Amino acid sequence: MSHCQNPEAEALLDQPIAVLDKGFVRLVDYMGGDARIVQSARVSYGEGTRTVREDGALIHYLMRNDHTSPFEQVLLTFHCKTPIFVARQWVRHRTARLNEISGRYSVMRDEFYLPERDQIRRQSKSNKQARSDETLPFEEANRIVQNFEAEQKQVYANYQQMLDAGLARELARMNLPLSLYTEWYWNIDLNNLFHFLRLRLDDHAQYEIREFAAALARCAKAVAPLAYDAFEEHILHAVRFSRTECAALQNLLDGREPGLDERPARIFNQKLAQLKKIADANKEAAPVEDPIPVNPNS
Ligand SMILES: Cc1cc2nc3c(=O)[nH]c(=O)nc-3n(C[C@H](O)[C@H](O)[C@H](O)COP(=O)(O)OP(=O)(O)OC[C@H]3O[C@@H](n4cnc5c(N)ncnc54)[C@H](O)[C@@H]3O)c2cc1C
Repeated sequence: MSHCQNPEAEALLDQPIAVLDKGFVRLVDYMGGDARIVQSARVSYGEGTRTVREDGALIHYLMRNDHTSPFEQVLLTFHCKTPIFVARQWVRHRTARLNEISGRYSVMRDEFYLPERDQIRRQSKSNKQARSDETLPFEEANRIVQNFEAEQKQVYANYQQMLDAGLARELARMNLPLSLYTEWYWNIDLNNLFHFLRLRLDDHAQYEIREFAAALARCAKAVAPLAYDAFEEHILHAVRFSRTECAALQNLLDGREPGLDERPARIFNQKLAQLKKIADANKEAAPVEDPIPVNPNS
């Protein structure tokens, strides 16, 4: 089988998935899927895909054992429109290829991100990098959004004025803010997309990039549903404990106190809460298939 097609992914092609107020993620193209992952994992045996059940078990085995290279055989190309401050976080992921709109070549569009009122929050007291969980009274939030909007209009009017006066586009754009929307084509393999999603779907990531990550995840799931299921099972909804935390966990299992100081105990308890959340959500989930033996060193 030389060309993988997945009906779910075909249906998504060229359909922009709306994100935030003016952004989107659009799956432009993809190469490979679950079948390509198992083909490439089994290449040493000269065998292709078997049953869905066996393929699923193999993909779980690969994911569980960090046998990542077969996932790199799947490629996805996206067209994305995102505020520049999200783009700044996004480009930290170096294992993708991208082409972005040029503010030297093109006039930047009058399109700025304005958050929903319920996303207007005070600084978090517990996390220096985050906003609080509490929303503001509507009137206060509304006033802040109106201030953002007025400032954006003013900056864009100045930009327009400088362009009209003949200033070079590469200079006129200099004061445009981080809330301005940019666009790019972004091409990444599935293994590195999973790495991106693990970091950017996480609660610690900023709300705005999480929204984009959710749209990318939807596309990844459509292209390679078995691989996405294995990613959710072994990575996204798994909890990692440090050596000290493992000892604390063993203490708990033995009916003793965890034996941690205040700060490590707080982090440990957060992980236990996360563990409970995942376990509760997972009660109805089907059991994981037994692995099919493959040589992970091949
Ligand atoms: C919640 C959150 C907060 C963050 N806060 C900050 C911050 O305050 N300041 C800041 O500067 N950044 C911050 N970052 C960015 C973060 O430090 C990483 O740069 C970003 O998440 C990309 O991760 P990565 O390097 O693993 O990913 P990628 O660049 O996608 O790389 C994937 C993997 O490929 C390998 N790799 C890629 N390039 C190389 C290389 N050149 N050499 C060796 N191995 C390589 C690594 O194994 C890497 O894990 C934050 C990220 C998150 C998720």
